[in-house]
Amino acid sequence: MTVAKPADTNNCIEEIKRLDSVGCDLIRVAIPDSASAKSIRILKQSTDTPLIADIHFDPDLALTAIEQGIDKIRLNPSNVKDPIRIRDIVQAASAENIPIRVGANAGSIKLTQGMNITEALFQALQHEVDLLESLGFTQIVLSAKCSSIDQNWLLNQKIAQIYSYPIHIGLTEAGLLTPGIVQTTLSLSALLKAGIGDTLRFSLSGELEQEVIAGKTLLQSLGMRTGVRVIACPMCGRSRWNVQKYATIISRACAKLEMPLTVAVMGCEVNGPGEAREADYGLAGSGAYVVFFEKGEIRDKGAPEEMLKKLLNKII
Ligand code: SF4
Repeated sequence: MTVAKPADTNNCIEEIKRLDSVGCDLIRVAIPDSASAKSIRILKQSTDTPLIADIHFDPDLALTAIEQGIDKIRLNPSNVKDPIRIRDIVQAASAENIPIRVGANAGSIKLTQGMNITEALFQALQHEVDLLESLGFTQIVLSAKCSSIDQNWLLNQKIAQIYSYPIHIGLTEAGLLTPGIVQTTLSLSALLKAGIGDTLRFSLSGELEQEVIAGKTLLQSLGMRTGVRVIACPMCGRSRWNVQKYATIISRACAKLEMPLTVAVMGCEVNGPGEAREADYGLAGSGAYVVFFEKGEIRDKGAPEEMLKKLLNKII
């Protein structure tokens, strides 16, 4: 999801390009005002990736987004409630053959006495789905996110039992990078292993690209997606170069590739090639030089940038 308002077109396009560069499959943009809704056509010209408009309260924003060529609308049942206006959105979405995601979120739900959050979220979702179905609309995607792993599990399990519509999953307000990734991984891997989830988001407070990288890594780890896996040693007193810097460069350069390859970035040539012998290709530090290896066998030695280029040429 972008952070810049779509009305701030240059910055929003720059963020879209950053998300594209790491292989984001779907990009959501918040639509808080009319200027943002009217900017969608320009944003669409900057990317081939489908864009989703997240509508804030005003149904007219959804109608403008659809006119501007958006690929999907997200409606929060707590924010867009008027059935007459929802009918207008449904008619426009049907005419353009685009889906609507009914996206309930714990942060925006109002709890009545005695009701727990999972019940409240499910009821909000069900109410909106009933309305869309009564209008003959079935291009529906469902999502209901909590910030608690247990609640997220119960809620999405219930949704999956009752509906056959695609489900978007995520853990809301997951937090800073490390705790956010750990908690979201725990939540989403349980759901995905149970066959629940068609699209996903890591909602992290951090650099945009990390959400995409975390999501792709989770899918690769579960065997649900192939791609280049970059492994790196944790470094120790033997380390002879900047492992983190070069692992990041390689990871970003290979982010969109879908071949099942493992690439290693190791701190030293003493142990690195041996420790990473399962990797298809790798680099290891060696003082002023870096060694390039294949399946644990050293093949070449040279300056870091030269060996980096050699490795990337093998892959890309
Ligand atoms: S590869 Fe070398 S630098 Fe990295 S952890 Fe192993 S011994 Fe230490």
